[in-house]
Amino acid sequence: MTLTYQSTRDANNKVTASQAILQGLATDGGLFTPVTTPAVDLDFDALKDASYQEVAKLVLSAFLDDFTAEELDYCIDNAYDAKFDTPAIAPLVKLGNQYNLELFHGSTIAFKDMALSILPYLLTTSAKKQGVDNKIVILTATSGDTGKAAMAGFADVPGTEIIVFYPKDGVSKIQELQMTTQTGDNTHVIAIDGNFDDAQTDVKRMFNDADLRAKLLANKTQFSSANSMNVGRLVPQVVYYVYAYAQLVKSGEIQNGDKVNFTVPTGNFGNILAAYYAKQIGVPVGKLICASNENKVLTDFFTTGTYDKKRDFKVTTSPSMDILVSSNLERLIFHLLGNDAEQTKALMEALVNEGQYSLPQVDQDILDLFEAGFATEEETALEIKRVYDESDYIEDPHTAVASAVYQAYADRTGDQTPTVIASTASPYKFPRVAVAAVTGKDSGDDFAAVQELNQLSGVAIPAAVNGLETAEVRHTTVVATNDMQKAVESYLGV
Ligand SMILES: *Cc1c(COP(=O)(O)O)cnc(C)c1O
Repeated sequence: MTLTYQSTRDANNKVTASQAILQGLATDGGLFTPVTTPAVDLDFDALKDASYQEVAKLVLSAFLDDFTAEELDYCIDNAYDAKFDTPAIAPLVKLGNQYNLELFHGSTIAFKDMALSILPYLLTTSAKKQGVDNKIVILTATSGDTGKAAMAGFADVPGTEIIVFYPKDGVSKIQELQMTTQTGDNTHVIAIDGNFDDAQTDVKRMFNDADLRAKLLANKTQFSSANSMNVGRLVPQVVYYVYAYAQLVKSGEIQNGDKVNFTVPTGNFGNILAAYYAKQIGVPVGKLICASNENKVLTDFFTTGTYDKKRDFKVTTSPSMDILVSSNLERLIFHLLGNDAEQTKALMEALVNEGQYSLPQVDQDILDLFEAGFATEEETALEIKRVYDESDYIEDPHTAVASAVYQAYADRTGDQTPTVIASTASPYKFPRVAVAAVTGKDSGDDFAAVQELNQLSGVAIPAAVNGLETAEVRHTTVVATNDMQKAVESYLGV
């Protein structure tokens, strides 16, 4: 039987995995979401010796069940190759009482690579399967990391074009340079005078604009999304939770069957949602700990049952989590409501119209899986310092948010369940913040900080950062938030 992906906002909008990947977002504004849990044989006594690629094959074949084994092999083998600087792909590092799952060994040194290195293959394979020969335009809003990782994946992929919007003042210098120096004739990078939510809102609007869609189709062009709303982003992220559990069994840190917690530094709720699906297919999970920075809308949601975006947007040192509308939460809401599209739609409309919604009666078992907390800017810096002092290891600020939230949770609850911290970026992506937290001094600029970080941590400077300072800046366009569609139309010549 083929797994059904249904829109969170329309019970009649049902598609297969490859259709969901190709469309990206449902045209009714909802997100395609699996309505049943696929059966996966998670035998960790065997899986502990499996490679990352083998675990990927197991998980992907369950969730993307209209792909053939050959198609999945092709996608997996091209994605998880020497672009990653370690054959482990996602190594697990023990630091005191926590395990950091390093998800930053791909080409752009953030966890987005874990899914975006495979998405172009999943997407072009899906198009082929569906007999679509339109040009696929990837339209993406980024809080800093998705944009670069998506471009790295899609650059010069035949039949695709990629347009990335980022908040002009909302990303680190390294993040910005990574994007503006991107090569590839099919890549377009645009800064907007606005924040990430502004960018994401207008990208979603363009997706749902029927007139624009018709205009594109007349030009044999269609949109798809590389944002974490795309099933092709979500499913590959389930893999590393399964893999992490297998590594813990392998190293003897846990026995097969023992529960583990996952703490995830959260923005758009994609990464932690993937951990939820990992639990659904059989990874023994105690708690899923949702960690936020000072934009703590999710902490408040899990503590009060009310999602309220009416608050000031804060620019923090963990910019990829500076988000007030966490898109993927919609999928969890849908599950919390027993996969009820009508109720989900009503709540999401309340969020747009009233700026908030409150949960009605929900599935308490699902809700109880989640814990939530946030770390202030000061707590985040102190956590980077604590981990450095205790373990001689430097976390990036996003990882440090999760690490701080977990330590506070463990102190508060006494929960001793082994806990994995999703380590979402290399400190080299945010070197100034990382160095200042350790030394108490500002390096002055990102590239001086890179050198200092290298001295302090002894970790080799990644290829993603080497050469960035002198690379040619190819993208310099800045537009007002209201002009995003104009920019898209001009790039696509429609
Ligand atoms: C995107 C990102 C996050 C947030 O992940 P979500 O899936 O959006 O919750 C956290 N840390 C880093 C470094 C990121 O790039």
